[in-house]
Amino acid sequence: MEIRKILFATDFSEGSAHALPYAADMARQYGAKLSIVHVIFDVAKTAGWYVPHVSIDEIYRDMEKSAHAEIEKTFIEEMRDLKDIERLVLKGIPHEEINKFAADHKIDLIVLGTHGRRGIDRVLFGSTAEQVVRNAPCPVLSVRLPKH
Ligand code: AMP
Repeated sequence: MEIRKILFATDFSEGSAHALPYAADMARQYGAKLSIVHVIFDVAKTAGWYVPHVSIDEIYRDMEKSAHAEIEKTFIEEMRDLKDIERLVLKGIPHEEINKFAADHKIDLIVLGTHGRRGIDRVLFGSTAEQVVRNAPCPVLSVRLPKH
């Protein structure tokens, strides 16, 4: 088994923070490249009605800036000794973008949490984790929060 590229998906929740050391350790042990990916939810894709672009584009620009800052701030300790690392903020439906990125970039392993920001209902119904596992083009390591 060769693991050269790892994608770590984060929504900055406790659940994804708990999964990060697994991604970082595997990147270390395999000498793999680590791509830290956050997806900003694209409302226009799900709303099904007209969303005025001028104002929403501005909001997205702000969100993108905050997400980049959050990636830097949150992962600084874990990333210190990792040499090959990239941080990406994408826009779309999170599970679609994660799996598309994995396919396009020939990712060998996706690491994510089983719990995100939105609580237990999404773990059972249509969660990002579930959809990624169902459709991923590569193996997925999903890390459960101990208290769940
Ligand atoms: P959820 O299925 O939404 O409860 O989230 C489960 C896990 O999927 C989280 O712990 C993250 O690892 C990942 N995830 C959820 N939402 C996003 C997102 N917007 N961008 C990147 N990863 C995400």
